[in-house]
Amino acid sequence: MTAQSAGLVCAHHHLYSSLARGMPAPERTPAGFTDILELVWWRLDTALDLEMIRWSAMLGALEALERGCTTIIDHHESPNAIEGSLTVIADACAEIGVRVLCAYGVTDRHGADGSRRGLEENRRFLAEGGRGMVGVHAAFTCSDETLAGAAELASSFGVGVHIHVAEGEADRDAAKRLEGLTDDSWLLVHGVHLEDAHGLRGTVIHNPRSNMNNSVGYAAPARFSNPIALGTDGIGADMLEEFRLAYVRSREHDVTVGPELAWGWLEAGRDLVPEAANDVVTWHHGEIDPWYLAFTPGLSPVDVVIDGEVVLAEGRPTRVDPNEVRAKAAEQARRLFARLG
Ligand SMILES: [Zn+2]
Repeated sequence: MTAQSAGLVCAHHHLYSSLARGMPAPERTPAGFTDILELVWWRLDTALDLEMIRWSAMLGALEALERGCTTIIDHHESPNAIEGSLTVIADACAEIGVRVLCAYGVTDRHGADGSRRGLEENRRFLAEGGRGMVGVHAAFTCSDETLAGAAELASSFGVGVHIHVAEGEADRDAAKRLEGLTDDSWLLVHGVHLEDAHGLRGTVIHNPRSNMNNSVGYAAPARFSNPIALGTDGIGADMLEEFRLAYVRSREHDVTVGPELAWGWLEAGRDLVPEAANDVVTWHHGEIDPWYLAFTPGLSPVDVVIDGEVVLAEGRPTRVDPNEVRAKAAEQARRLFARLG
């Protein structure tokens, strides 16, 4: 018996990280979250060029579609390939047929010129009619001027800011830094080290697998009064899997909690991008029920309809050859690893 659901939403992704799996090991074992950023992610993002970004996004969008995720809210950084990067990502997702909201993660890590160019890429993309938000890496890598500039740019386009907030200890004072800047359209990603009554407005995006993988602690998002939605932080876009992890992590924290809590977080993704509710995903078997899905790994979509178009039929993407996408992505991964090695 097949089952049908609406489209699943990944409310925080990094499509640029799709090629990272199997990358050359860092020079030493990272000892904490800031080390992981410096030795892995900031090493990777500086090596990216537009061709790598294109195939990384193609692979990430393909993998999303193959798991019934119809909508990706992406957060991108490529300090040596800023200009045009958001269009490359948007075009790649359009080619696969998956909906995407793009943002460039502005930061002062590369000096004032880097943050200026990052802000400009957000502005250019939005001004040309691109669908997205204004991205900021995190308060702890930005000056107050950059944070204010991003908030101002976002409000001038009527969109929110997509920003990592208090993911690790280093960003503990994020709530103070962002005081007075946020509104309900912001995406506050992680919130692990936020106080319960942190005073920031926006949707908190919970990424349980990433938080566990980076050993940053449990965000315990049920303690916030903000809406909560689920993201993967760049580790694929299998949102049923992320829901199961969110459930089991919430259960480890509080054994009286049922899967309806994490299911509500998954469904809240559609409040951010309402068209996803009209997408139709047909699963090869099962029931769309939190208790059933919390204990049933491995469900696969048979057909996916996005914006009225069949983009996955009998488990196969209709617009692209998945083997070709994987082969091209592997070729770009080899180029990337050669730079990192
Ligand atoms: Zn992230």
